[in-house]
Amino acid sequence: MQTQLADFIKDTPEGREAEAILRNCVHCGFCTATCPTYQLLGDELDGPRGRIYLIKQLLEGHDVTEKTRLHLDRCLTCRSCESTCPSGVHYSRLADIGRNIVEQRVPRRGADRIKRWALREFVPRSDVFGMAMKAGRAVRTLLPQALQEKVPALRPAGPWPKPRHARRMIALAGCAQPAMAPSINAATARVLDAVGISLVEQAGAGCCGAVRFHLNDQEGGRTDARRNIDAWWPAVERGEVEAIVMTASGCGVQVKDYGHLLVQDPAYAEKAARIAEITRDVSEIVAAESEKLAALLQTRRGDALAVAFQSPCTLQHGLKIRGVVEGLLTAAGFALTPVRDGHLCCGSAGTYSLLQPELSKQLRENKLAALGEGGASLIASANIGCMTHLQAGTATPVRHWVELVDSRLNGFPI
Ligand code: SF4
Ligand code: SF4
Repeated sequence: MQTQLADFIKDTPEGREAEAILRNCVHCGFCTATCPTYQLLGDELDGPRGRIYLIKQLLEGHDVTEKTRLHLDRCLTCRSCESTCPSGVHYSRLADIGRNIVEQRVPRRGADRIKRWALREFVPRSDVFGMAMKAGRAVRTLLPQALQEKVPALRPAGPWPKPRHARRMIALAGCAQPAMAPSINAATARVLDAVGISLVEQAGAGCCGAVRFHLNDQEGGRTDARRNIDAWWPAVERGEVEAIVMTASGCGVQVKDYGHLLVQDPAYAEKAARIAEITRDVSEIVAAESEKLAALLQTRRGDALAVAFQSPCTLQHGLKIRGVVEGLLTAAGFALTPVRDGHLCCGSAGTYSLLQPELSKQLRENKLAALGEGGASLIASANIGCMTHLQAGTATPVRHWVELVDSRLNGFPI
């Protein structure tokens, strides 16, 4: 697509990157068919091709209005369009550049502004978030339905094995997950311990930065990234750990992008690239140890429970990890049920469920219907945001897949 960038962006790194991305788009519209918001709303401007056109216009210096912002706000950043695009258009990066400009040109007002500010300030602070979650659980039944949905029941984490192996990895604790489901990282530590890897959490690390970044506080997201790099770097530099392990695929996408996010920062660019290079989703780590896992599981199989796997967008479209978790669950003796339209977003999408509740709810209903068609008695996922969002709409238990593997290995109840 030919683009005449306006002077304000022409000679900037963002301008050059946007121009290169736009050049790849041949405007074919294949991506539109797999866009969840286009499917719901039927408006070209609520699909990737339309949004690309809107971003092109603003980069060329045309007026930016609240309508432009609305169509970009409705985008889930699910990246389904990237998986479909035959030309390799990096839509999500273009959307980041476009949103950053729109945010400056069309300032938010009133409730929208306050809501976004509160989410940016509150969610990434794990201590504050943890206290609020505790208070929320104490008065859960008194909360309005919309808030009850965001306060899942606490399940026991179980023991975290003491570090005893020569092979060590660092787990990202994150911001919301420790308060919402501490069982996920503990289950990961037990599964990795069983295959000869000790997992530790590093003091000082926190939110991966995705919350602030995707609320258009891109500099705040970079600050979160720098803080995590500072916390991890000494152990990485000394060669004490071989990987940074992500148990939420949403965080994995963000941390694997640190190299790109900090490429312009001379103090952090090299470290960020190294951290991104050794960052792995937990499924990649467990799959690499699948022979050991299979040997352990031989004696520990249980009933072949029917499980529907919801592959988060951040796992399948962001990290491009497809079929790996499904293989691990099958190897652990679970019977996977087919899931229609598995490429479509469940509507969670970070803070999207709070900012676009109607669209988010429709997507959840569609996803739960698809997940339920095969008669599964459990839903498995790979991202805390999707898990909480889905669980709020169904009585079927929703668990992280690593908790299911842990239940087979170590007998933990699910
Ligand atoms: S983003 Fe890709 S699939 Fe969509 S219109 Fe452009 S080239 Fe076609
Ligand atoms: S990221 Fe998802 S919601 Fe946004 S345009 Fe692409 S497919 Fe549509």
